[in-house]
Amino acid sequence: MKLSRVGIVGAGQLGRMLALAGYPLGIRCMFLDRSATAPAAQVAPILTGELEDAAQLAALAGASDVVTFDWENIAGSALAPLEKLTKVRPPRAALEVSQDRMAEKALFSELRIPVAAHAAVDDEETLRRAITKLGLPGVLKTRRLGYDGKGQFVLRSLAQIGAAWAAIGGRGLIYEKFQEFSREVSIVGARSATGQSVFYPLSANTHGGGILHYSIAPFVNRKLERAARIYLKRVMQALDYVGVLTIEFFVVKGRLIANEMAPRVHNSGHWTIEGCVTSQFENHLRAICDLPLGSTRALGHTAMVNFLGKMPDRELLLAIDGLAFHDYGKEPRPGRKLGHCTLLKGSTMERNSALTKVLKLIEWS
Ligand code: AMP
Repeated sequence: MKLSRVGIVGAGQLGRMLALAGYPLGIRCMFLDRSATAPAAQVAPILTGELEDAAQLAALAGASDVVTFDWENIAGSALAPLEKLTKVRPPRAALEVSQDRMAEKALFSELRIPVAAHAAVDDEETLRRAITKLGLPGVLKTRRLGYDGKGQFVLRSLAQIGAAWAAIGGRGLIYEKFQEFSREVSIVGARSATGQSVFYPLSANTHGGGILHYSIAPFVNRKLERAARIYLKRVMQALDYVGVLTIEFFVVKGRLIANEMAPRVHNSGHWTIEGCVTSQFENHLRAICDLPLGSTRALGHTAMVNFLGKMPDRELLLAIDGLAFHDYGKEPRPGRKLGHCTLLKGSTMERNSALTKVLKLIEWS
């Protein structure tokens, strides 16, 4: 059966870029979101309602050949009934694993993918025990619903336990040993239902306050790239994955330590729109619509810079040669991802000097 109608739960910027990638392929996306003015609703039809509303989800599934999501925190139990109505891709199991940092780390460990030493924390006593066992510094995080550094507290001394507990204390936490990383990198790949898989070059990511500020790609390091591909492939195979999957890593003493996975297109893969033969958005659609996957070959050297909290001066940025501008159509709010730009250059030197120029014109708030 030809799959051309894609239902997407959540209509954020990821959904918007998926919809835009779908048009040239003859793929039409339809969304479900609370807001009729969400970024994707500006470019494609939308059903409005709560993301976990059973009737609206069923309506979306009824109008779609395949259902996917741009937000991974939707409850698996809300998606389960849709599996009787249509295809749900990526598989629900991937979504559920990625929603719980303990489950995610258990899967990585089972697949022999290194992770930071960690322990579950449910009260101050288990936090004290975790610190005694794993040492300081460490990061206390919520196991669920954490993203972009939200729900995290870095502990450097025992005296901070009270403050950490006041900030994010409660049940369902995880304490991780702090990783003294030299870099953060991520790998994005896609797998089809027939088991075909493709992998993008590594991206090196710089975060501020837990949120991605900018990425450079390809980040060339054969040894790390080989390991990242092997790890991503293991996860894809274990979950019988269909669609785009991302894993973020810390590089510690030249080795990869997996931090987390995202069962969807990823911010650190936005550079692929201009920087690769086939973007992550197109390959996600190709994968979930049973189409052959496209080449992930890089076309040059790129940098992707997020616009956070405030849109930069469009005219000044567009005057930079090789720059592509993306406005997600969102209302500014501190820390909110409002857009990004990508620089595509012929050499790392040109890319780096253009990136320096861009960074002078961006203010993250
Ligand atoms: P996360 O929400 O787990 O992706 O964390 C957001 C960011 O916080 C990461 O990209 C890192 O920059 C930082 N971070 C998270 N966990 C750790 C850790 N165990 N050690 C050092 N930095 C961390």
